[in-house]
Amino acid sequence: MENVIILGTGCAGLTAAIYTARANLNPLVIEGNQPGGQLTTTSEVENFPGFPGGIDGFALMDNLRKQATKFGTRTQFDTIESVDFSGPVKKLISPNHIHEAKAVIISTGASPRLLGIPGEKEMFGGKGVTTCATCDGAFYRDMEVVVVGGGDSACEEALFLTRFCSKISLIHRRDELRASQIMARRALAHEKIVPVWNSVVEEVLADDEGKARGVAINNVVTGECSEIPAHGVFMAIGHNPNTKPFQGVLNLDSNGYLVPETNSMVRTSIPGVYAAGDCVDHVYRQAITAAGMGCQAAIEAERWLAEQT
Ligand code: NAP
Repeated sequence: MENVIILGTGCAGLTAAIYTARANLNPLVIEGNQPGGQLTTTSEVENFPGFPGGIDGFALMDNLRKQATKFGTRTQFDTIESVDFSGPVKKLISPNHIHEAKAVIISTGASPRLLGIPGEKEMFGGKGVTTCATCDGAFYRDMEVVVVGGGDSACEEALFLTRFCSKISLIHRRDELRASQIMARRALAHEKIVPVWNSVVEEVLADDEGKARGVAINNVVTGECSEIPAHGVFMAIGHNPNTKPFQGVLNLDSNGYLVPETNSMVRTSIPGVYAAGDCVDHVYRQAITAAGMGCQAAIEAERWLAEQT
């Protein structure tokens, strides 16, 4: 049986790994289908303390991984589908294996949200609809694209796409961006980024080959319907927490976020089970706050394990 199993290799999980490894707990990190978490799909991270010149998101996660490995963290790929926290041995159940641990740190992060409109699913991936400009932006060199959303992610995606694309229509359902002022100002000042206000995307339109050729939008103020030509459709409308395996076992709120105990940010209702990062935090959702929660969860786990012996 493991001392501690950490679920996820984003900022929260790898920080928890660094701390528990340095505490000689020999942690096992279970890595899911997005190694390195959301930061690996971002471009430049400008607000992580200690990097005055910014750092590439992938490089930051690679550094965290190396730091965790240096102190003895082990990593294993697996997909946890359900858990059994009813006894002193915590069980994490995947299709082929049951992992057992004394303590568990859940840092499963969040996944990009989709609109659920016609054409979106059909053209997701190689046919024009995507949630990651860093991954797919270069495929749309000299083409017109749209970005859907009004938050920091949408602005960041739009700004990144200016490197490749000829025009980026930033479609937002209101007439004011949700993004931080610095990001909003930067996006709106860019000559290639054209805001499309008060508009919702109703359909992704396909060409004869089944690839995206544009979007159908509806102006929610005037009721006017129109089309915007686009080869790439970048969805940036927020995220859903990855908490399905914990349904019915731990407290989740109506949006699926894990709810910590009132006197702690990382303790769950089950002793020895902690939660950190975007699967529990719907307020701050920053790389540095996720890392901070990973540290808190690791220290809590370490102290709790010490009490058990
Ligand atoms: P977010 O802040 O939740 O913004 C989501 C955006 O999508 C909002 O503008 C929202 O519109 C829109 N939206 C949501 N559902 C929609 C729907 N069904 N149809 C149309 N539009 C919809 O998410 P985020 O931009 O991914 O950011 C998440 C967190 O990460 C934030 O805390 C952000 O500050 C942080 N972040 C930081 C950076 C950075 O600092 N470099 C970069 C990326 C993200 P409304 O505004 O109308 O609600």
